[in-house]
Amino acid sequence: RPDLFYKVDIAVIGAGQAGLSAAYHLRKSGIEPGKGFVVLDDEFGSGGAWQHRWDSLTLSNVNGINDLPGMAFADAVDTMDTSLQANLALPKYYEQYEKQFDLPVIRPVRVSEVTDRNGRFMIHTNGVQFTARGLINATGTWKTPNCPKYPGWDKFLGRQLHTGEYKGAQEFIGKHVIIVGGGISAIQLLGEISKVTTTTWVTRRPVDFKKEEFSIELRREAVASVEKRVREGLPPSSVVSVTGIHVTPAIEEMLLNGVLDRKPMFEEITENGVRWEDGTTIDADVIFWNTGFRHSLDHLAALHLLNDKGGIEMSGRLATQVSKDPRIHLIGYGPSASTIGANRAGGAAVKELIEFLKL
Ligand code: FAD
Repeated sequence: RPDLFYKVDIAVIGAGQAGLSAAYHLRKSGIEPGKGFVVLDDEFGSGGAWQHRWDSLTLSNVNGINDLPGMAFADAVDTMDTSLQANLALPKYYEQYEKQFDLPVIRPVRVSEVTDRNGRFMIHTNGVQFTARGLINATGTWKTPNCPKYPGWDKFLGRQLHTGEYKGAQEFIGKHVIIVGGGISAIQLLGEISKVTTTTWVTRRPVDFKKEEFSIELRREAVASVEKRVREGLPPSSVVSVTGIHVTPAIEEMLLNGVLDRKPMFEEITENGVRWEDGTTIDADVIFWNTGFRHSLDHLAALHLLNDKGGIEMSGRLATQVSKDPRIHLIGYGPSASTIGANRAGGAAVKELIEFLKL
């Protein structure tokens, strides 16, 4: 029944970097917290996906955290202390940020489905139901790991896990670990695990290691190419697939000591390990899939945003607006899937949505 739905103008789904940036801009634009907009987040505490990252991800080995608008990261935590765990520092920052700007974050509220009824979005949750005229979706990727199922995956007697389940290298001591994936996480975690046990590294394609530091221009180009894809309605690719991997001193050491001697993707998983096309096998206790994440958008399925290319055609200044339905913005999506991108996208989405809804 529609009268059971709490009415707002704009609902933001997700309270990570992207959702909080949007909330800040909504407040700043004079949209009333509570009545005008709410932020729905399915976690018990602040921090978005950061609260789940592994302990060894510290301020010294993250790629760089961009400030949220209006309050610096360094105002909330001692960023000079690079040994700080990202899974503690970022949640602390976001918590203070939510308090400082009195943002109406409601949690834990899991949005299971959004439907469209008579020009309003009906937001179905495990708690209070909401209805809104505009939607800013900022649900990130962490809740939807991408884990390909290779033949025999269900026969393996050892342990299989995905990046999202990683707690630390110690649990692998004495085990042989096959690490799958060619992204930053795969390489960082291979570095950690190879220090305590034996490893085999497997990727689909050779990894493009780049000696030179990524310039701002290179990063811009990479983001621009992802933006071009989503404007054409293609599924977004990861920025790393465009830039390659920059060789840090840690990676240099791994290259020298053979940890990064890559093997191509195996053909099959067996009870005790994996088998390649030429019949070679390796026994393993663990297969660790660092095969990325996909955008968490399943709750929007009933809005039929996907096209036949498997993507969502985006438009607007920073490509946050869904072309098919300009009442919906996706932020932290495609070109804005980083702390800096998410930040900017929040501002652009709010401006365009307020204009479109004439608020
Ligand atoms: P999130 O932080 O994931 O927030 C989304 C929120 O929405 C979460 O709280 C989630 O629980 C909630 N949610 C999801 N689905 C629902 C639902 N159905 N209902 C209600 N709530 C929901 N970027 C950088 O700029 N620098 C880095 O150093 C960096 N390191 C990274 C390291 C790793 C291992 C990974 C995976 C990513 C990294 N990134 C980094 C990318 C970066 O984390 C994100 O792009 C950025 O934090 C944007 O966050 P977000 O708000 O889009 O998503």
